[in-house]
Amino acid sequence: MERHEHTLKSGCLGTRRTVSSFHFGAPDSGGKAYIQASLHADELPGMLVAWYLKRELNRLEAEGCVTGEIIVVPQANPIGHAQALLGTPLGRFELASGNNFNRHYPRLSDAVYARVKERLGADAAGNTRLIRAAIRSELALREDESELDSQRTILMSLAADADIVLDLHCDLHAALHVYTGTPLWEQCAPLARLLGSSAQLLATESGDEPFDEACSQTWWHIRDRCLADGLEVPIDMACLAVTVELRGQRQVSHALASRDAAAILDFLRLRGLIHSAAAPLLPELRFPATPLAGSENLKAPFPGLVCFHVEPGDVVTVGQPVADIIDPLDDTVVTLSSAYGGMVYAVSNHPYAMAGASVAKVATNSVIKSGKLLSA
Ligand SMILES: [Zn+2]
Repeated sequence: MERHEHTLKSGCLGTRRTVSSFHFGAPDSGGKAYIQASLHADELPGMLVAWYLKRELNRLEAEGCVTGEIIVVPQANPIGHAQALLGTPLGRFELASGNNFNRHYPRLSDAVYARVKERLGADAAGNTRLIRAAIRSELALREDESELDSQRTILMSLAADADIVLDLHCDLHAALHVYTGTPLWEQCAPLARLLGSSAQLLATESGDEPFDEACSQTWWHIRDRCLADGLEVPIDMACLAVTVELRGQRQVSHALASRDAAAILDFLRLRGLIHSAAAPLLPELRFPATPLAGSENLKAPFPGLVCFHVEPGDVVTVGQPVADIIDPLDDTVVTLSSAYGGMVYAVSNHPYAMAGASVAKVATNSVIKSGKLLSA
């Protein structure tokens, strides 16, 4: 294992932060995987998973079993980890700018396409090498304006030429679920099965460039541009980037993290980055993939107490009670339910809701929204 330190542009006199990356195997040896945790700094289940991954990868490397290049970044957001207000960690938005730490990654498709379009040919693997080199060149040209910008550049530069990118997050209180690009679902399905994922939310454009999509969508953008320009060249979807939501913020435990790390290692075995004598067994998928545009958000119509009838990971039918909102002053009670039916994959983690607050999210198979599909 090698440890590399990447220094952020200093945002404030007297401070200097670093992202630490841990490298296993060797570059250009047989596939590359990049795994980061806690990009939202108040989401810590992935950090424990990363620690388990480091321990296991050290052992596997000593046994000569790491056959690709694997990079682990347990703390992707040192800026966010320094933020707290009166003892409460605030790791989702940068306090200086209000920016969500998982938005506004560079959209590289146009610049990369301009670099490669005259040189693409009949060999898909050759096209992949060409596009990856162009991605690296574009990222090397970035001039970071701020500390946050430099953090984005560092993370993208470590990840964007990888075959597999896993961004480990969590929701408030949730069943394990994943977000990935629609063209990537076939590649992602074995990972979702190994992780026991309860919902698989697919989109080609989630809005505002989250990290996973900034890494992966360059590939289908270039494929689409080639088709539009009449270029008959094969473009592989060469970056499987997945946001893995490791349940809820308080679900940090040895039992869960060791299980999740084992599932990720099995996926890397399936993909040939770790030597394996036998292929890992794939459990059945818990719930089919659904469009991110079908994620139904049940909101509190007025302020009040929240009492749930279901748990994250429960499948509900149309009209089945999900949660009551109770106003104890006017004795008003409303029962929230799904208009479509589906998997309740995440719920609020506070038993009080302001008017309009999101109380539960249901993965449904109906396309019910457009535009920016992710919550802030
Ligand atoms: Zn997150």
